Amino acid sequence: MPKARILVWLQLNENAIRRTPLWLVTTEDHYSTIPQFAVDAYHLNQTIGCTIPPDRGLELAIPASDKHYTARILERRDLSEDLWVIRVDPGGPFQFKAGQYATLGVDHGDKRIERAYSIVSSPYEEGLEFFIELVPQGELTPHLYKLQKDDTLLCRKISKGRFTLDVKSGRTRHLLLATVTGIAPFVSYARTLYRDWKTGGNPMPGDHQLYCLLGASRSWEFGYREELERIAAEAPWFKFMTTISRPWEDAAWKGETGRVDDLVRKYTDHWGLRPETTTAYLCGHPTMCENGQGILTRAGWQKGSMFEELYFIPGKEVASA
Ligand SMILES: Cc1cc2nc3c(=O)[nH]c(=O)nc-3n(C[C@H](O)[C@H](O)[C@H](O)COP(=O)(O)OP(=O)(O)OC[C@H]3O[C@@H](n4cnc5c(N)ncnc54)[C@H](O)[C@@H]3O)c2cc1C
Repeated sequence: MPKARILVWLQLNENAIRRTPLWLVTTEDHYSTIPQFAVDAYHLNQTIGCTIPPDRGLELAIPASDKHYTARILERRDLSEDLWVIRVDPGGPFQFKAGQYATLGVDHGDKRIERAYSIVSSPYEEGLEFFIELVPQGELTPHLYKLQKDDTLLCRKISKGRFTLDVKSGRTRHLLLATVTGIAPFVSYARTLYRDWKTGGNPMPGDHQLYCLLGASRSWEFGYREELERIAAEAPWFKFMTTISRPWEDAAWKGETGRVDDLVRKYTDHWGLRPETTTAYLCGHPTMCENGQGILTRAGWQKGSMFEELYFIPGKEVASA
């Protein structure tokens, strides 16, 4: 990304429509107006990231604010035409527990668009990792999809969410059910436990055991299969199984087929999981979460021992993996 130095900083008249002040910024060769919320982020002679569109003024890197950091993309990995992984520098201190989510966003015109994204990385790691699916008709993901290494985006300074590992109920087995990007919080659990297991950290894994069943339409949509299979091969406390629901589009696939909900009973039996000793977590597509909870309820799980993280509200959407 090119750099520019702020030379002049002037307050202009109020934006007639929104009645908020606009500020003019000039650098060596270009100028730009920025809204009030961006002002605190800049100062004279500051060098900032920017893009310079051919026929417009300067486009500044998204500024930070009281609530937001300017996060920067450190790496991008594309899995398919609509799934990708980014690792970002959040832009300041960012605390979270495995299983929580960050709020990412962009400013588009005068509009700020933000959405929740589960954090894939472990709190032990530098930077935050996200696994994102493009929703072509969506408001935010088409903008996020365009961002490449070194581009900036907004990241709220505070993590949120209660989809963390239940280490208090006394149930030491954890059944993790996910579709596609819904694996994100479970990768964070597994990486965190793995690190604690290796270094004698607390409080995990202790007696805790993870049993993870992940579904997608096709096998190349499993963003973390190799990593999780490696952990499963090494760690006695981690079991991992994948299934695809469109084997006719993935002829080389030799593993399980069907949706996650089709296999819940099979794998709870296979792994010997009982409601009294197992907390269930369901993450991703709302249909999988609903069906999965129905199946577990019929097998004896109670409301308080099942947690879900729905990624969107069901309705007009595409079918689940
Ligand atoms: C706690 C939490 C954690 C989340 N973590 C992740 C994550 O790790 N990775 C990730 O990719 N998303 C995650 N999401 C979903 C994310 O917040 C956005 O909703 C999603 O990226 C779509 O945003 P959008 O603005 O592009 O679409 P929107 O404008 O919000 O949605 C447009 C339409 O598409 C539907 N829709 C939204 N998402 C999907 C989808 N995946 N498939 C089909 N239809 C959809 C909406 O219901 C709506 O009708 C999470 C959501 C929550 C609540």
